Amino acid sequence: MFEAKDVVIIGAGFAGLSAGVALADKGFRVAVLERKPAPGGRAYSFADSETGDLVDNGQHVLMGCYRATLDFLARVGSRDQLAFHQDLEIEIFDGPGKSATVRTARLPGPMHMAAALMRYKHLSIGERISAMRAAMKLLAMHRRGYVELTRLTVADLVATLGQGARARETFWYPIAVATLNDEPTVSSAALFVEVLKRAFFGRRADSAFVYPKVGLSELYCKGASEIIEQTGGLVEPRAIVEALELGAEGRIASVRLRDGRRLGASNFIAAVPPHHLLRFLPENAVGDPFFARFADLSTSPIVCVHAWFDRPVTDSAFVGFVGATTQWLFNKRRIFDLHGQSHPGYLSFVISGARKIVDNSNAELLETVLADLHRMIPASREAKLLKALVLKEKQATMAPDLRSHQLRPGTGTPIANFFLAGDWIQTGLPATIESAVISGNNAAATVAARIGG
Ligand SMILES: Cc1cc2nc3c(=O)[nH]c(=O)nc-3n(C[C@H](O)[C@H](O)[C@H](O)COP(=O)(O)OP(=O)(O)OC[C@H]3O[C@@H](n4cnc5c(N)ncnc54)[C@H](O)[C@@H]3O)c2cc1C
Repeated sequence: MFEAKDVVIIGAGFAGLSAGVALADKGFRVAVLERKPAPGGRAYSFADSETGDLVDNGQHVLMGCYRATLDFLARVGSRDQLAFHQDLEIEIFDGPGKSATVRTARLPGPMHMAAALMRYKHLSIGERISAMRAAMKLLAMHRRGYVELTRLTVADLVATLGQGARARETFWYPIAVATLNDEPTVSSAALFVEVLKRAFFGRRADSAFVYPKVGLSELYCKGASEIIEQTGGLVEPRAIVEALELGAEGRIASVRLRDGRRLGASNFIAAVPPHHLLRFLPENAVGDPFFARFADLSTSPIVCVHAWFDRPVTDSAFVGFVGATTQWLFNKRRIFDLHGQSHPGYLSFVISGARKIVDNSNAELLETVLADLHRMIPASREAKLLKALVLKEKQATMAPDLRSHQLRPGTGTPIANFFLAGDWIQTGLPATIESAVISGNNAAATVAARIGG
């Protein structure tokens, strides 16, 4: 049996733990209940039993514009475990050995990005100037308002701006797929422009790539749990919430766990993806249109292939591929070496928005990734593959489609003491770590205001 708490939070991903830390900082006793054997949600890591290397379920990249996340990581004591690329510099291959680098200039934003675009050699000078004009139009559209963009997909938008096939395939679409995790014909132009504005056309520091030098779980779970426990709270793994139980005046009185335990509190936050939430709602809420609409939110997959070669195949920390199925290669040796760990030939490959290939077998996916690697970096053929691990996240993130604008809820619900958090909550951002942390902070602030903290 648990001791009653002020707030019960269901789900220990970035959203649940950031809500927990924010509430603990205001002195509330919080119980964070997590279904899995360890906290971390979709951003988790594990140690590979053979190599001992830390494996993230998928390489996660943060950016300098992730203000809420960077503040949260500072609070849990792990900001020094992040590597900051002061200037954005990405090597992008568009064919065998044909690489061009997107490199921002040491100029105030957004001039730093204008310079990067003008140096991008996969586009002709004319295409670069046209892309620059298109970027300026996008920013003007953003300033004028959001509504017209919510009716366009990224593909519609880029076509409207007169961007040709080469500019679409080697510039606009790779950015859209990487940041929104879906195909340009599906993704909302409004979310795309918001990301471009925040990440690439804001302050110079905002476009810095930031990645963890440690495994994802190590980055935030321990520090967050300690803060929550210091104020009499707890983070309880293997605590599967099966039902929210109603009490007086239609409020939630307690949660019931699969093992029969119950936990009461004055306020409840669900920080879980929508398809999980729909499983434990009180019976009378299931048919409520407020909640029922969440079933219409769809998801988009990500495939990650982790591979260990007998030698390093690139010196870069990360490399982009265009015109290939594989989009990104992360050189874990370079990323983790900063932390003094990891096998020399350990690479992670990422395929976002992987709808078309996610049902392929693991062997086929590995073959695809290796074929792309060998084509783009021919010297890699000499490296011998020692071991590979294919991880498919079929429901990696909420699809950033046009319907999502109407379907994403805010923090509050029709139940007075029940609140929502998670990357899919309406934050104006795609479903990312930053959206999850913002939603967690918002839920915590709402609950604190209600309790009077
Ligand atoms: C492969 C991959 C790569 C990604 N790359 C990036 C990236 O580069 N940058 C970026 O910003 N974002 C990235 N993301 C997205 C990012 O991981 C998510 O946005 C973020 O982790 C979501 O956090 P969350 O707390 O909202 O949800 P989750 O992490 O899903 O947390 C919800 C938690 O609730 C728990 N739960 C569910 N039901 C119950 C229940 N009944 N009882 C108790 N607990 C329950 C779940 O087990 C889970 O731990 C990526 C995602 C994936 C899958």
